[in-house]
Amino acid sequence: MIAGLQTGDSASRRFGGMEYVCEVCKQRIEPNARGKIRVEGVTHSSTPKAWIWGPVPCHDECRLRLRTPYDDQVGTGEYVLTWQDMTA
Ligand SMILES: [Zn+2]
Repeated sequence: MIAGLQTGDSASRRFGGMEYVCEVCKQRIEPNARGKIRVEGVTHSSTPKAWIWGPVPCHDECRLRLRTPYDDQVGTGEYVLTWQDMTA
């Protein structure tokens, strides 16, 4: 996790050359043109900003095949799948 990372001091700066691997296909994820990668996770519907599971990096095209321990409960209204663009 790189929560709290400050950006803006240098747009071209690399943060340790960190690599992101897709949770589904285990292939590397390259940040998009805006330097973001997609992360997916599960939150409780009453606390949509708090991850219960994840977030994990995931390709856009792989997200429909993502499996979580909460799959049985997602869709019942209690847990929700959530995604974010995270600065890579
Ligand atoms: Zn993938």
